[in-house]
Amino acid sequence: MARINDNFLKLKAGYLFPEIGRRVSAFNEANPEAAKRLIRCGIGDVTEPLPEACRQAMHEAVDELGNSATFKGYGPEQGYAFLREAIVANQFADLGISADEVFISDGSKCDTGNILDIFGPGNVIAITDPVYPVYVDTNVMIGNTGEADASGAYAGLVYLPCTPENGFVPSIPDRHVDLVYLCYPNNPTGATATREQLEAWVAYARREKAIILYDAAYEAFIQDPAVPRSIFEIEGAHECAMEFRSFSKNGGFTGVRCAYIVIPKALKGYTADGTEQAIHPLWSRRHSTKFNGASYPVQKGAAAVFSEEGKKQVAALIDGYMGNATLLREACSAAGLAVYGGVNAPYVWVGCPTGLTSWDMFDKMLNEANVVITPGSGFGAAGEGYFRISAFNSRANVEEVCRRIGEIFG
Ligand SMILES: *Cc1c(COP(=O)(O)O)cnc(C)c1O
Repeated sequence: MARINDNFLKLKAGYLFPEIGRRVSAFNEANPEAAKRLIRCGIGDVTEPLPEACRQAMHEAVDELGNSATFKGYGPEQGYAFLREAIVANQFADLGISADEVFISDGSKCDTGNILDIFGPGNVIAITDPVYPVYVDTNVMIGNTGEADASGAYAGLVYLPCTPENGFVPSIPDRHVDLVYLCYPNNPTGATATREQLEAWVAYARREKAIILYDAAYEAFIQDPAVPRSIFEIEGAHECAMEFRSFSKNGGFTGVRCAYIVIPKALKGYTADGTEQAIHPLWSRRHSTKFNGASYPVQKGAAAVFSEEGKKQVAALIDGYMGNATLLREACSAAGLAVYGGVNAPYVWVGCPTGLTSWDMFDKMLNEANVVITPGSGFGAAGEGYFRISAFNSRANVEEVCRRIGEIFG
């Protein structure tokens, strides 16, 4: 009898994006003319082409593989030194991180899920609400939760509400947790955490012997020099945090796939009998056993993000998206809606008009503006009453979306 992992049966059927898809299909079928003017501001995927510097580096790398003198087979599982060193020099200079503390992978989605391999049973896991659903579902799969209740909340998880009152950065819990996922700049709220807020979290984690899983996938969108770009800017974080970074949103690598985790050698966990154990060798072993390295052309393309040309081209991409975010913020404000995020992040988080739920607002935007947004309640109970508009779009589409928002709320 082949036993399955029963935890998978606890998963709520993927609700958010399938339900959006269902409603959009029904709308398109019923309104074939309006369907032609539909603009999607829903899914968090980039839209603009890859930087020229990255494409060129990937072309050259493919040609190297086509020549027996420069051919490469398996690379180092942890990533090529040229990329790990470029990351440290460009992203973590002066933060006390060395190249061998950087583990290259094919995506942060995989990394944030796979990291649970090295943690034992019985950890108390804290997540924010609203949240990037991957953190929740991967904990369900591995057995770190009980069943979901009617609202979709899983028994055993500690939900940390993020609201306008706390600036969408969770207050320090008044109880013990072992692992906490923090994502800043945040998806979906577009919020950032201040240095003081991160200092409080680092102090908490050190006191509780907890580990912060810090997702900085949107670091490149930070405009305000006062906003921390890395958890490792905070003193003491090297002993209580790891950081996830990705080339998906800065270099537009969502379809190319390259990311990394930074795990300081000073980061410690504990064995069942309470003995201190460094996390770095555990992940190193896990990564080299279950992963054979990101593709060479992809790592070459990623390293080109840090070339002189690459930096300029990435900056232009970010400027374009952040210009979109500004326009979307202005249009929603002018429509009389409460607007958050979109200043240091490519997501604008908007309060629904009084009396409308997140899904009411989704339907209103679909039917009246022919624009697809993401209902906030899909990211957690505390997202009810909000919706997310993504700035990942062409400028022309964003201008049209803003015009239509003005029209329906005019
Ligand atoms: C897009 C995104 C990532 C990046 O995922 P990849 O698998 O590297 O494409 C990570 N975290 C969050 C919250 C994201 O929105």
